[in-house]
Amino acid sequence: MQNMVILGATGSIGASTLSVIEQNPEDYSVHTLVAHRSVDKMLELCLKHNPSIAHMVDPQAAAELQRRLPPHMAITVSSGEDELASIVALPEVDTVMAAIVGAAGLPSTLAAVKAGKRVLLANKESLVMSGRLFIDAMQASGATVLPVDSEHNAIFQCLPEIVQQSVGVCDLTSAGISHILLTGSGGPFLTSDLDTLSQMTPDQACKHPNWSMGRKISVDSASMMNKGLEYIEARWLFNATKAQLKVVVHPQSVIHSMVQYKDGSVLAQMGNPDMRTPIAHCMAYPERILAGVEPLDFFKVGQLSFLEPDFTRFPCLKLAIDACEQGQEATTVLNAANEMSVAAFLAGQIRFTDIARVNEYCLTQLAQQSLDSIEDILALDTQARRVANEYLNRL
Ligand code: NAD
Ligand code: MG
Repeated sequence: MQNMVILGATGSIGASTLSVIEQNPEDYSVHTLVAHRSVDKMLELCLKHNPSIAHMVDPQAAAELQRRLPPHMAITVSSGEDELASIVALPEVDTVMAAIVGAAGLPSTLAAVKAGKRVLLANKESLVMSGRLFIDAMQASGATVLPVDSEHNAIFQCLPEIVQQSVGVCDLTSAGISHILLTGSGGPFLTSDLDTLSQMTPDQACKHPNWSMGRKISVDSASMMNKGLEYIEARWLFNATKAQLKVVVHPQSVIHSMVQYKDGSVLAQMGNPDMRTPIAHCMAYPERILAGVEPLDFFKVGQLSFLEPDFTRFPCLKLAIDACEQGQEATTVLNAANEMSVAAFLAGQIRFTDIARVNEYCLTQLAQQSLDSIEDILALDTQARRVANEYLNRL
């Protein structure tokens, strides 16, 4: 039995994780559910999954949850941000699903890594922000980190066992690997007239052709910033160089990514676009469990196509690839700027095409500094948000 903490339980990945647990009640138990402040949703999850702990980061939300929970349920309700670090480190916790959205997920994800837990990593932003520090912490604690992000999970599945066992410090070349091919659908605006992009609404941006996801990552998919963040994520997880990483646009989202070997072989992982597959894979690795996902029907798939990414259409992808080359400060700044610009776009304050402008501006304002601790990273994140905010106010 694996006792699981689900960080971001009320979100899209949280829901898929709980669905996989429900399929396999003999092997997994819900120890803790964590969410920000959506009390209705948390209450519903508590009644259904009966966790030992229900944690709301917002104290008022926690107090309301406490009031509304039936007294006979022995659920401990807690709150606060700093408390998350001790929850993920509890001795009875085996596995932590890191699925809080954005930079807010960094401290708790890193705490789970430091506590040496089995960490199922959905919160790509934490790795984008902390890169080297994250991998070092993993090495020091012996934590097992398994990639939930469908592309990285696909890549992981296509790697030889020796590489799988050394995530973060692996040697692709000596394993005979020439390239990691990161696929992305290109999102809802892949074929839209370029002139129309500035008029696209949040709802249009969130209407992904293949995946159903939270709103932030949906906008990131429309701008392909998501692929950019994933490029940086892949750089760290697979210790990959720029020459080893390629982005391939694949509109059908049937192939979730590929690994190319020096003998000419290319291994791909395929499946229906349903996050329960990579989640189930991470939960059971190296075994396999039911995920509740329909088997892929090749007769319905039809054609698979592949395109080179167009940086004019997707400037955010280019910004991320360049930031990755530049280093840790650039990726931390880009992540913070992007969270601010996406939030402003979702709130109707800026145009879709302004997202890349804000992100680029913040990168140019970046001052050289060393990032030796999580405090340094969080300070730079705050600074970048301030710069983004000033620029947003001028737009
Ligand atoms: P979502 O918006 O649906 O859910 C976000 C969750 O985070 C919610 O439970 C919310 O309560 C919690 N949260 C938000 N702010 C918080 C804070 N300050 N403190 C604590 N909790 C907070 O997002 P999602 O789509 O489930 O994505 C979650 C993460 O998984 C993101 O990092 C995303 O990039 C990654 N991811 C998602 C998908 C997907 O298909 N949805 C795929 C790959 C990776
Ligand atoms: Mg992904």
